[in-house]
Amino acid sequence: MHVRESALRHVHVIGLFSHRMPELPDVTVYMEHLDRLVRGEILRKVRLASPFVVRSVQPPIQNVEGRRLLEVTRLGKRLVFSFEENLFLVLHLMIAGRLKWKAPGAPIPRKLGLLALDFDAGTVLLTEASPKKRAWLRLVAGEDALIALDPGGLEPLGATREVFSARLRSENHTLKRALTDPTLFSGIGNAYSDEILHAAKLSPVALTSRLSDAEVARLHDATKKTLLDWTERLRLDAGEKFPEKVTAFRPEMAVHGKHGNPCPACATPVQRIVYADNETNYCPACQTGGKLLADRSLSRLLHGDWPKSLEEMEERKSSRRMPAVRPTGEPRSSRTRARPSRAPR
Ligand SMILES: [Zn+2]
Repeated sequence: MHVRESALRHVHVIGLFSHRMPELPDVTVYMEHLDRLVRGEILRKVRLASPFVVRSVQPPIQNVEGRRLLEVTRLGKRLVFSFEENLFLVLHLMIAGRLKWKAPGAPIPRKLGLLALDFDAGTVLLTEASPKKRAWLRLVAGEDALIALDPGGLEPLGATREVFSARLRSENHTLKRALTDPTLFSGIGNAYSDEILHAAKLSPVALTSRLSDAEVARLHDATKKTLLDWTERLRLDAGEKFPEKVTAFRPEMAVHGKHGNPCPACATPVQRIVYADNETNYCPACQTGGKLLADRSLSRLLHGDWPKSLEEMEERKSSRRMPAVRPTGEPRSSRTRARPSRAPR
């Protein structure tokens, strides 16, 4: 009986989380490998299996063909391929978008394949394992057009305690919503927000306006530590190979996707709150003073603190947009390019 229950739980977990949105650690590892593989190469051809994946009209997508790639960076959860002539290809994987690195000219897989970027060194394939095609690519010309695609979230790893605290308290939301809102913080989604809140021992439905300074400090530390630890773990897992399993369900996570499993810190069964198309996982002993938050009113609270759809959330634009700064300049909050910790090829 016990075995069967845990087997069922396993099926449930894999079913729900096989499509986990790539977040800061996942996108960082993609970025590092792409930069290593294609920086300095000429983009020979953009092949589209579906024209709908391209969400920009001008300039035409073919304008980037024949241009040299200068670097691959990150804008929140989006990947940015910067080309000569100030052209930028911006790619958002959304939930089920994944990248593969194949031999030059590799065919685009039927059904799941969306597009191919052909370089002499190899081909970058974009697939999306979902009937709902949400991943998108945009070509923009000029840095102002690139900056306009920045949702404006604070890059959490570069933020001081004061800046982090001011941003967190700038709007009153549940912690779960505040961490995952791309206009508030950059690169954090459903999975790592669960892990961050568990590490900080804070409730997902605590309101940002009610947090003490000590709690904000704990959240800031947990945010940095969780994102850095996971980035390093994913780097080590991929090693020298292009990361193919970067967003797979991770059994090492403490609470995310672990509903019903024992909390690694205290062995209390992990709980969940289901809201909208989503759920948040937490440990009642570590995070909510033993209270179960699974009742309807809390689901409603979380649900009500959310835009209607994932697309709406991801496409939110900040109303506090900062003055345009060159994206390579330091003050840009959410455009970073961390160098791989190991030596390049
Ligand atoms: Zn616990």
